[in-house]
Amino acid sequence: MADAVIIGSERSEIGLPAGMDVLRRGGSAPDAVEAAMHRCEDNPNDHYVGTAGLPNAQGVVELDASMMLGSTRRFGAVAALRDYPHPISVARAVLEQLPQHCLLVGEGAALFARECGFEKAELITEKSRTMWREQVAWSTASVEGENTPALSGDHHYRANAVELIRRLAPHAEPWGTINIIALDSSGEMCVGVSTSGFPYKYPGRVGDSAVPGAGNWCDLRAGGAACTGRGELAMRGGTARTVVDLLATGRDPGGACQIALRDAATLPDAFRSELRALALTPDGRHGGAAGQPGSTYVVMTTSSTEPETHPRRSLTAPG
Ligand code: ASP
Repeated sequence: MADAVIIGSERSEIGLPAGMDVLRRGGSAPDAVEAAMHRCEDNPNDHYVGTAGLPNAQGVVELDASMMLGSTRRFGAVAALRDYPHPISVARAVLEQLPQHCLLVGEGAALFARECGFEKAELITEKSRTMWREQVAWSTASVEGENTPALSGDHHYRANAVELIRRLAPHAEPWGTINIIALDSSGEMCVGVSTSGFPYKYPGRVGDSAVPGAGNWCDLRAGGAACTGRGELAMRGGTARTVVDLLATGRDPGGACQIALRDAATLPDAFRSELRALALTPDGRHGGAAGQPGSTYVVMTTSSTEPETHPRRSLTAPG
């Protein structure tokens, strides 16, 4: 019997107790990840995941999510999924019910969600619509000197994408995709990732959260890892896979995340390059790293009464 543990990125503390309840009752790692992630996807105050997630450039919420199992390396994901509030569950259904595929996108993902019987919901909220209007309208207007943002067509976004993303207001509070990694009492590990993606992204853009090896990787021989932050860097760096490869060489979880992120940070990138990683080993050791100072992650073991916050290692710290 392994000692069950569940860890998550910033803002997953709202979901971890539900995941730990599952694990304490002897439930499975994917059940724990799904239970925890639903709480995060339903959080109306979180603008980076599920309902209330920030929309794409045209004001439409498009969600990416994935789930990977450590024992088999089975992987299920959906990307650019509209109208379904729990993309983690649709990703799990791809993993379990569509074994010939790993990743469904857009209309096909929505068709599959409907066929599986998932409920649709309105994903944009008043607050997230207002944020989109203010940010996108402000950015495009200030670049082009006119007040016709992406509403009128993607050409505005294409023309101004670099400038728009550079000029977005800095995040004052913890932000980004939700990562949750669970180890159950049978020793199975599961990594779940769910996100509304880069705010105001180009319609159809898919980030690292849905891509195996980039934002999610799990291999019971070494451990599991997941990323949040600038997904294009995690995709170009193969960052989650790199973390797990480093665990396999005997690196500790924090050190493995740090080295993988340092590698991603060497990639030329005109946009903001903050990336964070999190890792868990099959014997329950955990750690994280971040390019952004002050970043944390949360952990619950079977004896925890509430999620404990741990610092992530900074890229400049020794190690
Ligand atoms: N990693 C996500 C993506 O690139 C974004 C985020 O974490 O905020 O889609």
